[in-house]
Amino acid sequence: MSELSKGTIIKVAGPVVVAKDMVGARMYDVVRVGSENLIGEIVELHGDLASIQVYEDTVGIGPGEEVVNTGAPLSVELGPGLISSIYDGIQRPLDALVQAQGNNILRGSAIPGLRRDIKWHFTPTVENGVQVCGGDIIGEVQETTLVKQRIMVPPDVRGTLEGLKEGDYTVDEVIGAVVGEGGRRTELKLMQKWPVRRPRPRKERLAPNEILVTGQRVIDAFFPLSKGGTACVPGPFGTGKTVVQHQLAKWVDADVVIYVGCGERGNEMTDVLLEFPELLDPHSGEPLMKRVVMVANTSDMPVAAREASVYTGITMAEYFRDMGYSVAMMADSTSRWAEAMREISTRLEEMPAEEGYPAYLGARIASFYERAGRIVCAGSPERIGALSIIGAVSPPGGDLSDSVVQATLHVVKVFWSLQGRLAQQRHFPAIDWLTSYSFYKEYLPGCFEDKEKGLEFADMMRQAMALLEQEAQLAEIVRLVGAEAISANDRMAMETAKSIREDFLHQNAFHKVDTYTPIDKQFDMMKVILHFHKQGLAAIENGVETAEIFKLPVREEIARAKYVEDGQAASIRGIMDTIDKQMKALYAPAAQTAESE
Ligand code: ADP
Ligand code: MG
Repeated sequence: MSELSKGTIIKVAGPVVVAKDMVGARMYDVVRVGSENLIGEIVELHGDLASIQVYEDTVGIGPGEEVVNTGAPLSVELGPGLISSIYDGIQRPLDALVQAQGNNILRGSAIPGLRRDIKWHFTPTVENGVQVCGGDIIGEVQETTLVKQRIMVPPDVRGTLEGLKEGDYTVDEVIGAVVGEGGRRTELKLMQKWPVRRPRPRKERLAPNEILVTGQRVIDAFFPLSKGGTACVPGPFGTGKTVVQHQLAKWVDADVVIYVGCGERGNEMTDVLLEFPELLDPHSGEPLMKRVVMVANTSDMPVAAREASVYTGITMAEYFRDMGYSVAMMADSTSRWAEAMREISTRLEEMPAEEGYPAYLGARIASFYERAGRIVCAGSPERIGALSIIGAVSPPGGDLSDSVVQATLHVVKVFWSLQGRLAQQRHFPAIDWLTSYSFYKEYLPGCFEDKEKGLEFADMMRQAMALLEQEAQLAEIVRLVGAEAISANDRMAMETAKSIREDFLHQNAFHKVDTYTPIDKQFDMMKVILHFHKQGLAAIENGVETAEIFKLPVREEIARAKYVEDGQAASIRGIMDTIDKQMKALYAPAAQTAESE
């Protein structure tokens, strides 16, 4: 791109600017708009006439002002310094923006995504003189105590490695070079750039057959997500979409977390920004932010940058995936992202489809989620990376027939359906156990070291789900004819289902212990609940009234199991013995005394 075209604004419509005389411009070129140098991207091109979506407030920009093409697509900087950063939708560091210009004034500033003033210690892992190609790992930088960045040869580069040297470098300094065919030299840096709208290359797609443990019981046990899997969380306002996303960001068993706050209220994002730096990672005890990158694009920030924020996030996520890590990305909310698309589409005067969304809405959503997956990474040494995406969807009124929900359900493999009814009853997470689903359930046994235990867990979950379904059917009958009309066994089933709901599914995100449950503890908790059920049925068989069974004091202990701190798991299994004792005492007092003597 030697001669960069300069055009002239002829029209401004909200976030969209139309410019003429954009000679040589290409789709998705980044441009600088007007006297304030606002950052924009060409999203429509008719000859020399370009429609540009501008990532900043266009107030005060008018016809006649200049538009300068940079000749490069919208890209992010990838390298040391990403972790712990908080970015806007086009990867400008929010703290630096605020410092440089004061609150709310973000216009025209081009602060780079990665800081240029930090030196990182780089250790090569390969020898000079070897043949390398795109994706090959050539060295490491310990970025934070939790994340070691593996420095890779940028995609599309191949040749002989030269001059690579251990040392302290900024992201911008040359650390070595690759000499390709005909002596073509490509300098290597700790940083590389990648256009956000293009998926980064990979070698091969693998089945997402490993569970991504979240410590959230209803999710792990009933509707699990997998490493490289996709999930959506739709629900009406106030049902807990954001809390679910936060819980996952905090507790998910991933190496790196990318959190995109997209178009939600500013105060919610402020909560995250204040709360996250305080949190500790449960696996290492280190500050959680040492494995998190945030993209914050709140509802008061420009709409076009919201459209871009999701791509900025996913590209950073792919970069860490390419190092062979398990990465989890949350987007809250994809509905706001779709609304941004709709607004820009309207300004472009495109033909609207359903609910005013552009006709390509479904395709955009699909291609976003397709960037998730468990993969063999490009380059050597051979490694497997995984990128999981969890998108919140906030349809108006919680209506699941909404275009964004429907387009999302076509592509994601896990559906956590949040219900207003459950939220009103303060049953949180308000994930409806009857309509939610996961296509990764078959991989559940694999998340236990002991295979037998894994199979038993899956089997217990099937039993528990059958009881919940039975409860739903019986509830109907009870409503019509009363609890006396159903059999003792059915009453027992209903009581156990209630216990599953209250003692297992219900999980308080704000309780110190309850907020996160390791998978082995989930196993113990469910085992105890089902053991009570089994022994209850045995007691009924022996002529005991259900009312007697339901009154047993051990039920208190079952209800409290969720608050038993990690490491005291034995006390949960101890409940099993108490169940046996108290049940037997109901129908075989003599045997009980004989035993205890
Ligand atoms: P949404 O994003 O769907 O509008 P939020 O995630 O903001 O809803 O949740 C609304 C409120 O519901 C929270 O402020 C909290 O009081 C409550 N809530 C949601 N999930 C939980 C949970 N797991 N434990 C306790 N309270 C919850
Ligand atoms: Mg929310």
